[in-house]
Amino acid sequence: MLRKSVILEIGNRKPECNPAINGPISDFRFLITDFHLKPIKVALSFFQNHSLQPYNTFGIEANADFFCRVTAGGQLAEALRFARESGLSPFVLGGGSNILLLGDLPYLVMKMELKGIQVIQEDADQVRLRVGAGVVWHDLVAFAVSQGWGGLENLSLIPGSVGAAPIQNIGAYGVEIKDVFYALEAVRVEDGQTRIFSRDECRFGYRDSIFKQEEKNKWVISSVDFNLSKAGIVHIDYGDVRKVLAEMGAGQPGIADVSRAIIQIRRSKLPDPAETGNAGSFFKNPEIPATVFETLKSKFPAVPGYPQAGDMVKVPAGWLIETAGWKGYREGRVGVHDRQALVLVNLGGAGGGEVKALASKIQASVEERFGIRLQPEVNYIGGGLS
Ligand SMILES: Cc1cc2nc3c(=O)[nH]c(=O)nc-3n(C[C@H](O)[C@H](O)[C@H](O)COP(=O)(O)OP(=O)(O)OC[C@H]3O[C@@H](n4cnc5c(N)ncnc54)[C@H](O)[C@@H]3O)c2cc1C
Repeated sequence: MLRKSVILEIGNRKPECNPAINGPISDFRFLITDFHLKPIKVALSFFQNHSLQPYNTFGIEANADFFCRVTAGGQLAEALRFARESGLSPFVLGGGSNILLLGDLPYLVMKMELKGIQVIQEDADQVRLRVGAGVVWHDLVAFAVSQGWGGLENLSLIPGSVGAAPIQNIGAYGVEIKDVFYALEAVRVEDGQTRIFSRDECRFGYRDSIFKQEEKNKWVISSVDFNLSKAGIVHIDYGDVRKVLAEMGAGQPGIADVSRAIIQIRRSKLPDPAETGNAGSFFKNPEIPATVFETLKSKFPAVPGYPQAGDMVKVPAGWLIETAGWKGYREGRVGVHDRQALVLVNLGGAGGGEVKALASKIQASVEERFGIRLQPEVNYIGGGLS
């Protein structure tokens, strides 16, 4: 039963651009905006049979039974109540850049649009920000960089929303969100109760957190607090960062230089989802025991490996996939990117099942050749999975 207090609209709204993906950097405007978590009364609109194609970077066509935009804290409680009373499972959608839709979703899809960046504490050395879950991740990074606050610059141009970033502890170029994370606020799906999760309670790991394990699908993250540094320390010893900075003529790079270098590297290596549907790295880099790595290295001397805690070694999934011969592979409407074997692409009009079938073939092929089972980093949603 639909509640009388909500407005029900049927049909689609216009797709939106995600500026982190397809907008020129110079167009961003930064403001410390109103913080929209206060329980203010704003009418909530629900849309039935709503297309999700504009809201996932793979560009997969699939419909949500119900869809709404959560733009204020009061709306989040209202949407969760609606889901409970209607017997619908809620699904939280950010920028749709880490999901593969396998079919129509019999859920209430709640698109998180809680905005706002607020300074909640500041001293001579650091600043603590509270950021609404619906803020576009790169907008936050660019805002911090523009203020000279360091810690996020290596995570420049990662698509998606702030609220999704802790879910898989996003990382790039030697930095993970856990390095600057302070705490988050989340609302329990079951009863609408609010809770603060500290850094330890989030149990961050490599592309992992408690929200992908025992607390999966149980919480809606509404805001995230970050501690950023005013010391101007940069991390440039990863991949090509130092080399690109030198080419840019940045002898003593600051955080803005590092951000620019990383944007340049990412644009040269990764496909733009506005042009070619994808969700970035499709698989996680596997971590294997050092002894297993030694055996692998004796068979494949060129295999790269990066020592990790607990006598484990991280092996680049992209190397395994490329060496197994998949780079640039195309099959019907799906394929493997020709510059980055870790990225699966929708060549146009593909369904989620086609991408999943290609991913399964790659997993089987890599397992047969190297004895390593790749695990998807991308979340499979729908088709009985979530
Ligand atoms: C071109 C490209 C490059 C990428 N590069 C990187 C990279 O370098 N490093 C990296 O780590 N990732 C990368 N990604 C993956 C992706 O950008 C991140 O995982 C990002 O954090 C996903 O954010 P999103 O808002 O799009 O999440 P979505 O795809 O919308 O959601 C992902 C999951 O999080 C859940 N979720 C979303 N918001 C919330 C919330 N507020 N509360 C509770 N649950 C929520 C969803 O239910 C879903 O299960 C890349 C993706 C693309 C397309």
